[in-house]
Amino acid sequence: MAEKRIYDSIIIGAGPGGLQAAIYLGRYRRDVLLIDRTGGRTWHAKHIENFLSQKLITGEEIITKGMEQAKSFGVKIEKGKVTSVTKRDHFEVQTEKDVYHSLFVIVSSGVYDILPPVENLYSFFGTSFFTCVDCDGYRTTGKKMVILGNDIEAVNHAFAMREMYTPDITVILDSPRIPPEYEEELKDENIRFVAGRPVRLVGKENLEAVELDNGHRIACEVIMSTYGYHRNDDFLSGLPLKRNPGGYFITDPHYESSLSGLYIVGPLNTGHDQVVIAAGEGAVAAIELNKRLIERKKMAYFLE
Ligand SMILES: Cc1cc2nc3c(=O)[nH]c(=O)nc-3n(C[C@H](O)[C@H](O)[C@H](O)COP(=O)(O)OP(=O)(O)OC[C@H]3O[C@@H](n4cnc5c(N)ncnc54)[C@H](O)[C@@H]3O)c2cc1C
Repeated sequence: MAEKRIYDSIIIGAGPGGLQAAIYLGRYRRDVLLIDRTGGRTWHAKHIENFLSQKLITGEEIITKGMEQAKSFGVKIEKGKVTSVTKRDHFEVQTEKDVYHSLFVIVSSGVYDILPPVENLYSFFGTSFFTCVDCDGYRTTGKKMVILGNDIEAVNHAFAMREMYTPDITVILDSPRIPPEYEEELKDENIRFVAGRPVRLVGKENLEAVELDNGHRIACEVIMSTYGYHRNDDFLSGLPLKRNPGGYFITDPHYESSLSGLYIVGPLNTGHDQVVIAAGEGAVAAIELNKRLIERKKMAYFLE
């Protein structure tokens, strides 16, 4: 059944960004609904060790504890996939089953990895198959590494990984050619280059190799995949939101988008995709949004 209630804020996405915003708004004793379809990037992070004061924590722990914390401050959490957001005098947030109303919206729906169609990938995803240098680069230190990709980004990753973490690198590119000057540089740095299409990851407990479509196997202990991300933002397509040339949403320093009252935090704006950054942005958006609610009340009082 559709609800008639108008929330102070609806938050879309229960990752670190959305949960941190929910905790702040809950503690301001605001009327908050958090909608999440479950299964974002943070769920896949099995080994987070760059979050202040946490020697080691999993993404699942952050989300589970964050949900409990948000609930303890009165935040209502609904499972559901948001399909559209519209704005008239207030926001309407449509899910596959219901429509909800609010004065403000915080979007924290994150991104998802573009992964190559490789058999057995999820056996190693997050443990030895990685997609993010800032997250897991450190964990490749001294290991036999393969870098997968389909453009020059993979080669650039190889130079960076060699500088920081390991000299033992093979770059496997879907596309057969790279500019000759890059090939030269790879040789100079002792980085191996193979053109081919990966089809399978080999190994049981531990990753042992990548198999190519020609049957050839390249031995490795870790993989850094460089195919990039897609944004979870289809549901915003009906709104007049400004984006930069890269497609990221333009926001002000408090993460308010070009549509008044709609805040966008996490990797959908130009920020880096990190737990602490998404959480920090969620906190900023919530503090600013709360100030707006206070102003709104003041205005209503003077207009009476
Ligand atoms: C393998 C792996 C390891 C990582 N390791 C680290 C690390 O060590 N350190 C670190 O800082 N970061 C790490 N990260 C990155 C970290 O997970 C991201 O920074 C974080 O996910 C960003 O938080 P977020 O709140 O923006 O998005 P997410 O955590 O992706 O949360 C978004 C939420 O929105 C939901 N959602 C999306 N679309 C909709 C919709 N239409 N309707 C309703 N809900 C929706 C999703 O289901 C999800 O629950 C890692 C990521 C991966 C994949």
